[in-house]
Amino acid sequence: MSKPFASTADTAAKAETFEILDDGVYALTAEGDPNVGAIEGEDFLVCFEARATPAAARDWLAKLREHCQKPIKYLVLTHYHAVRVLGASAFGAEHIIVSEATRLLIKERGQQDWDSEFGRMPRLFKQPEEIPGLTWPTTTFESSHVIELGGNRGRIDLQFCGRGHTAGDIIAWHDKSKTMFAGDLVEAQAALYTGDAFHMDWSSTTLDRVKHFGAEKLVGGRGAVALGVEACDAAIEQTREFLNGMIFHVGGIHRSGGTLRQAFEATHAALGPKFGHWPIFEHCLPFNVQRLWDELDGIDWPRIWTMERDREVWAQLQD
Ligand SMILES: [Zn+2]
Repeated sequence: MSKPFASTADTAAKAETFEILDDGVYALTAEGDPNVGAIEGEDFLVCFEARATPAAARDWLAKLREHCQKPIKYLVLTHYHAVRVLGASAFGAEHIIVSEATRLLIKERGQQDWDSEFGRMPRLFKQPEEIPGLTWPTTTFESSHVIELGGNRGRIDLQFCGRGHTAGDIIAWHDKSKTMFAGDLVEAQAALYTGDAFHMDWSSTTLDRVKHFGAEKLVGGRGAVALGVEACDAAIEQTREFLNGMIFHVGGIHRSGGTLRQAFEATHAALGPKFGHWPIFEHCLPFNVQRLWDELDGIDWPRIWTMERDREVWAQLQD
């Protein structure tokens, strides 16, 4: 029997967990659905990630508003993926901040990515008709950007750590509480999506830089919040292990002149026992293997996923 496409069979709502990680530091995780968070400034809020639609974002904001009424001044988006940015209009934020590379990716492939992600993960798109269009930043930066929080609340450092999950991911670092919002650069017990990734950079220097912060609280892209240095490092190293496993197995088949399908099967067999039960493993793996195969073929800039290409690759590998 063929497997249902991507996450189309995943229709059950996930249990959400709202956590106060420190004074004015909030996170909402949801059993492997995309995470969101917020940090209080003296007179305003900084929010991280926007969910897939305004309606989905409003559900998160309703929970946040039980704890903080300050206006949302900044919305930080770690990368361009539709399920993290298309709910932005619900925040009414004065500033929407992304890296310059992310702005270019929105311009280049934002619409195709929207269509692709809607097809892959329809459950996340609550009331999709309310999405006003692509999300455009008001502020961009190349490598780093600081948000001063005022009072004694410290500051937030936004940092590009190198190419990884996409060409433009950033992390948000709150030194005062040793909290990191890592976006999809780190997943805690959720499968990685690497369909737009730079596997070699991500698994080496990029994750090294992420780890160097010494986070004590880490909110990854999906999965539970990691609490304590040991758990944060473990989440980073699990992410690296997943990437290295892919590079080893896809790389081996590629070097020996095998086929994409053989590379998929070898990687599925090798990673399945440890990672196969994690959310979105089956959904992601065909797209991941295809992108890594492209990278090994010397295609540096990720090809754009369209609804058609999604289905072709799925049919070739998962059916
Ligand atoms: Zn992503």
